[in-house]
Amino acid sequence: MYDISSRPTWDEYFMMLAKLTATRSTCLAFPVGAAIVKDRQVLSTGYNGSPSGSAHCTTQGYCYPEVSACNVEKALPSRSVHAEANAIAQAAKHGISTGGASIYVTLEPCLSCLKLIISAGIREVFYETTFNSGDNLKIRDLLLQGSSISLIQIQVSDATAHRSAAFLLNPTSVESLVPN
Ligand SMILES: [Zn+2]
Ligand SMILES: [Zn+2]
Repeated sequence: MYDISSRPTWDEYFMMLAKLTATRSTCLAFPVGAAIVKDRQVLSTGYNGSPSGSAHCTTQGYCYPEVSACNVEKALPSRSVHAEANAIAQAAKHGISTGGASIYVTLEPCLSCLKLIISAGIREVFYETTFNSGDNLKIRDLLLQGSSISLIQIQVSDATAHRSAAFLLNPTSVESLVPN
């Protein structure tokens, strides 16, 4: 039924994990998910949502009383802890070193998260959708030049996405889903 070539690559696998993590997002702006990985092992995951213990944007129906959705481009700071920051915080909370790790994230990191990622010793950022533009793009490039971090845009292939969707939409451990 499925070509063996649709078995996900490691990069696709971890990006899909970031996408799956994004399903837990509680911010009204847009869902973002992240997975921190080292030596092909998952260290932590995170999604964008309000700080631990405070009301979710999705529960109260707004981010701030006059603001329907958190937007880092606007004057008010994002109420959400961003996915990358949450993934780094989860690792810190559990005493897991992020030095030399990679992060997979569904949205290109904002400048605050990029700085945090660099300072956490993460070496590679794989992202799906572009985010920075204008002056932020220039600052991003200056930050990248001053560090040894690489920023790489990747996509999950159609074949992998379709196969993975079939795994979600049907019982997974059945013969029809065996690659052949
Ligand atoms: Zn929000
Ligand atoms: Zn961010």
